[in-house]
Amino acid sequence: MRFEAGDLVAVLTTQPLDRTLDYRAPEGGCVQGDFVEVPLGPRKVIGVVWGPGQGDWDPAKLRRVLRVLDTPPMRDEMRAFLTRAARYTLTPMPAMLRLATRAPGLGDAPSMRKVLVAGEGEPARMTEARMRVMDALAAYGGAPVTQAELVEAAGVSASVIKGLVAAGAIHEQDTPRDLPYPPLDPARPGKPLTPEQEAAAGHLLHGIEAEAYGTTLLKGVTGSGKTEVYLEAVAACLAKGRQALVLLPEIALSAEFLTRVEGRFGARPAEWHSGVTMTERRRCWRMVAEGGARFVVGARSALFLPFQDLGLIVVDEEHDTSYKQEEGVLYNARDMAVLRASLASAQVVLASATPSLESWANAEAGKYLRVDLGARFGAAELPEMAAIDMRAEEVPFGRWLSPSLKRAVTARLEAGEQSLLFLNRRGYAPVTLCRACGHQIGCETCDARMVEHRFQKRLMCHQCGATRAIPEACPSCEAEGKLAAVGPGVERLAEEAAEAFPDARIAVLSSDLFGSARALKAQIVEIAEGAADIIIGTQLVAKGHNFPLLTLVGVIDADLGLQGSDLRAAERTFQLMRQVAGRAGRAEKRGEALLQTYQPDHPVIRAILTGDEEAFWRAEAGERHAAGMPPYGRMAGIILSSPDLQEVFDLGNALARNHAPLSEVGAMVYGPAPAPIARIRGRHRVRLLVTAPKGVALQDALARWVGQVKTGPNLRLAVDIDPQSFF
Ligand SMILES: [Zn+2]
Ligand SMILES: [Zn+2]
Repeated sequence: MRFEAGDLVAVLTTQPLDRTLDYRAPEGGCVQGDFVEVPLGPRKVIGVVWGPGQGDWDPAKLRRVLRVLDTPPMRDEMRAFLTRAARYTLTPMPAMLRLATRAPGLGDAPSMRKVLVAGEGEPARMTEARMRVMDALAAYGGAPVTQAELVEAAGVSASVIKGLVAAGAIHEQDTPRDLPYPPLDPARPGKPLTPEQEAAAGHLLHGIEAEAYGTTLLKGVTGSGKTEVYLEAVAACLAKGRQALVLLPEIALSAEFLTRVEGRFGARPAEWHSGVTMTERRRCWRMVAEGGARFVVGARSALFLPFQDLGLIVVDEEHDTSYKQEEGVLYNARDMAVLRASLASAQVVLASATPSLESWANAEAGKYLRVDLGARFGAAELPEMAAIDMRAEEVPFGRWLSPSLKRAVTARLEAGEQSLLFLNRRGYAPVTLCRACGHQIGCETCDARMVEHRFQKRLMCHQCGATRAIPEACPSCEAEGKLAAVGPGVERLAEEAAEAFPDARIAVLSSDLFGSARALKAQIVEIAEGAADIIIGTQLVAKGHNFPLLTLVGVIDADLGLQGSDLRAAERTFQLMRQVAGRAGRAEKRGEALLQTYQPDHPVIRAILTGDEEAFWRAEAGERHAAGMPPYGRMAGIILSSPDLQEVFDLGNALARNHAPLSEVGAMVYGPAPAPIARIRGRHRVRLLVTAPKGVALQDALARWVGQVKTGPNLRLAVDIDPQSFF
């Protein structure tokens, strides 16, 4: 849709207004989807031409669009995606547009930089240094280079190059700073595939060829070659001239993945995550929009990049909880990937060894294609799994390693193999207790206990991140020397292991012990190469790192995730235990996984031990089905928060009373109740839970329902569709 100069246009901005604003089209006109700069009060803001103006403003007061930005217009498909995603997550459109315009300097003119190319002139005097520069320049084959690159390549000082520029032997040119990414070659041969992998890849290629929407659940155990298989789909997508996106959790640790991509396609993909520089982010956004980036590897927010012809989205480790954005716009990247692909006629591959129940159920229902990869590539089987019944073990108070587990570790030490002791608890101890008065040290602004981190000599709140020094005296009764650590954390477990195995080299892997992702990555590489005999780790170690020398995994507290009222507790425990167990026995040797548990007969523990995954999913699905819970029913969480406790409860009660918009569609509301963590950063939190039968237009009803009440500057209301966590 085209607008001539002076026509009324509606512009959506990122400002928190509940509507589009009318402007007059600028000199030279504009088209629907154009990124524009418009005046708003005394400021200039960025927006998108969303359609024809509404015409309900005083025409005399209408202002003109200042300019159309030098970037391709937002495509209809992207506008439809943002609109549908906003409706699904009950998010205001300006907040959705913010997700789609996270390019630094979007409104700036394309920035330029000076590059050097060979000129025609010959310098009057040719020195040895000057020869080196000309040779280095020739080696680039006419490609432009920066002065810094040439200084480095020729090993000369900048003044030598300046002399050659003055003599006309080298020319300076201005070129755009944001250059296209090096082309990837899909025709390069990949790693040889096994017949099973070949067949799996074939299923994916079929979808890519069709250039139509479809979702495939690619299920395969760790080491089964899932990545090789979906990289074949990426290759086919690139060969078709379309763009591909791979989403990864824990993106900071993806260097290994990028190297694999480079090996397959001869160049690195574009990257989009919080770890890349602002300059690279700007380049990535622009090049995705202009087609100069064909393959992007990124975190969940990469879904909102302005792809021009997206043909494939891979969501690797699709069950990972980090795909759910838990702040600001509450969305699940897995669901949004499916939505975006359906609008772009693209394929989705959901890859996992332990799929989410939602994806499993969608495959069961025939909505997704399911492709299984069985055998572990280059290795025989999953580790042998067994429970250690803690009721029969003698473990002294304040200790957590059972005699059976110690014997197994000792055997590994004697054989020169690695063991992993897994405990999903950071810090030294979860509780610090006064033995004189029973006081537990809590956070001042959250209803949470402070966790002792002995390496850092601090107490830390895992909710808000507040830290303080470990006090000498009890803050309540002032008794000195009476504070005691209660319960295990990885640091304390490391202490116990050092005592039990005095000659072993012990390494602790926990995210808070490393200053940077780079330092952590370096440590992981060293450990994988054999720098430790015993690894002690949190769930960080469950996420896809390869430890080829590891043959034993000991799970310290397999019951940890089974407590609590979380709908997904069983599913999470099952996934985590399977992933951790999957770390053992990667190369030729079959590994062993031992689970310390007080409930060896619990259905989840039994399912983990027998390895009968389908039985576990069926049982879990049956329970959720009977209870009308997701994915067999709809659910939404409402979190109200305010510094004023009375205010949140009053609002919660008002919502509960005025439930008509919900009951009209058959939805039920529960609460208000204090949230499991009833106070975070000084804000009191109250929850309501809404459930509805599947197929109900829940979002519309929710919008009418919450629209009845007013929130103030201090009072926040957040709607979480399909909540993943219940904190
Ligand atoms: Zn005390
Ligand atoms: Zn706190």
